[in-house]
Amino acid sequence: MAEREYGFAPLVFRLHGGAPQVVREVLLERGWEEFDEEKQEEGDWNLYWRTSGFRNSHFENILPWQRLNHHPNKVTHVTRKDYLVRHLRRMKTAFGATLYGFSPSTFILPSEYIKFLGVYTQSHSSRYWICKPVDLSRGRGIFLFEDIKDLVYDSSVIIQRYISNPLLISGYKFDLRIYVCIKSFSPLVIYMHQEGLVRFATEKYTLASLHNLYSHLTNTSINRFGLCYAMDKERVGRGCKWTLSKFRCFLHKQDVNELLLWHKISNIVTLTLLKGVPCITSSPNCLELLGFDILIDSSYKPWLLEVNHSPALSMNCAADVAVKKGLIGDFIDLMNYSTIDSFRQKGHLRKKYTRSGSKDLQPKVFQGTLHATPLRERSCTRSISTSLGSRDSGLCSVNASARNSTVHANRPISKPNSYDKSTEKETAVEVESDDLNLTPISSARNTPSSVCKLPSLYENKLKSQIYDWDCRTQDRGVPACRVGDFILTFPFNEATWKASQEKLDVKVIVNEVQKLTNRLASSFNVNEKMKRDSSQSGRKVRDKFEALLWGPKDPPLLSECCFSGSGV
Ligand code: ADP
Repeated sequence: MAEREYGFAPLVFRLHGGAPQVVREVLLERGWEEFDEEKQEEGDWNLYWRTSGFRNSHFENILPWQRLNHHPNKVTHVTRKDYLVRHLRRMKTAFGATLYGFSPSTFILPSEYIKFLGVYTQSHSSRYWICKPVDLSRGRGIFLFEDIKDLVYDSSVIIQRYISNPLLISGYKFDLRIYVCIKSFSPLVIYMHQEGLVRFATEKYTLASLHNLYSHLTNTSINRFGLCYAMDKERVGRGCKWTLSKFRCFLHKQDVNELLLWHKISNIVTLTLLKGVPCITSSPNCLELLGFDILIDSSYKPWLLEVNHSPALSMNCAADVAVKKGLIGDFIDLMNYSTIDSFRQKGHLRKKYTRSGSKDLQPKVFQGTLHATPLRERSCTRSISTSLGSRDSGLCSVNASARNSTVHANRPISKPNSYDKSTEKETAVEVESDDLNLTPISSARNTPSSVCKLPSLYENKLKSQIYDWDCRTQDRGVPACRVGDFILTFPFNEATWKASQEKLDVKVIVNEVQKLTNRLASSFNVNEKMKRDSSQSGRKVRDKFEALLWGPKDPPLLSECCFSGSGV
């Protein structure tokens, strides 16, 4: 209690019923406390985690020190199967099948039945189809068919061309679960996690029995009930999951050009999340964790199967533990918390005083965004780093994971960013947060006005403690290129960073994606030795905006991969 009184309150998490146990475990290990509804006040928490979405009132009443693990209604256009189909169709019409050809052709039934019938009767090559209810998950209600007389449905469904030539490992089909964090919608900032899951079907793949779901579906929720689940399967082993790291080793042994594969997957994520219409409002206190399901076919082309709004975080096997604990830790790091929360404590004191009369003492609702500041040095980007004192985090620092993070506890508050008009407002909030770490609250506790007023100490401090202007990026607001194992995949250069501010310029972004892909493709076609020689001889061109290539264990800079071009 004494700690709370003096402004050193531990961080508090609140879990809604059904929230994953791994979130509790990770936060308790980091010294957080669990919210106690009986003992604590309504707003006395820092992170509220719900598997399902939040109500509007949760977003409206959010306080400066609080974070939510979902954005308000922003991703339904990709997380519902039929909406995703419509969204990708629109993008494909606007920007072409070369870029948007990563989704199997799909029809929404019943409304597009006639259209489907036309394609079905004409298509000789696409003999196999998969039918999925639009609003179900975990493989529920899915079936395959070859003959249209087997198509029976009583709800809204999608019919999708079945990728009948999947890449197999020892005869077993698999898909990839890639974890993606949307740190901000406006500007759009996307991180992809280096670790993920490979999910296997537990019976060997054969088109001779379309009804055997253990052979055709890779959902764990189905395969864990299969007879072969516990058996030691050739190369795959027991169970039905690998980590992405293990898959990387597999690719190395196959002598596969994995860099291009990872880049294609990263493109799928970016292109899927681009939206033609401008983002509505910024929700700076919210992050979104999505699960992208990617199937790789026998020619190593990745296909997007679906996007999950609340990817499963239960831990049922060693691969789950290896992946999900780190994932949640890094996701928390992306939220820019300090190790203690004096800010929340102060907000509560202010709220108390507000209740007792003065309107001036109302806590300000936080207006900032959650960007981490850029990592300036190459050495930093290689290590696991998070930024503290983010220009717009509203909280003063990051509790970087003990695992492998570089903690910059004394990093100063950044100067307002040229791209973000809301920063002026945010600065006051940031100053207050820092204030509380430096000024014993005890002296101010009984004098409401002093609690709310910024001490002059702060004003001086703000002037003297600003980030150096980065002459390479000409900007101090670009997001960190790496936070834990989360790699920044969008924006990936200055052009996309600028095009993602306020109104998303999709045309420019798509153009940049295409340019980058072309450069990488030509670079990757050069044999490994030439690559090494070239990068050693310093021919590589470094971009001012340092982005990493998502995918490989030790991700190279994108500019290193594009040595043969003129920069990314
Ligand atoms: P759910 O949300 O029910 O998991 P998915 O679209 O992810 O639905 O499909 C479940 C599984 O079915 C996938 O993990 C994959 O193994 C298989 N699958 C789905 N669509 C296709 C497809 N078009 N081609 C091949 N396999 C598919």
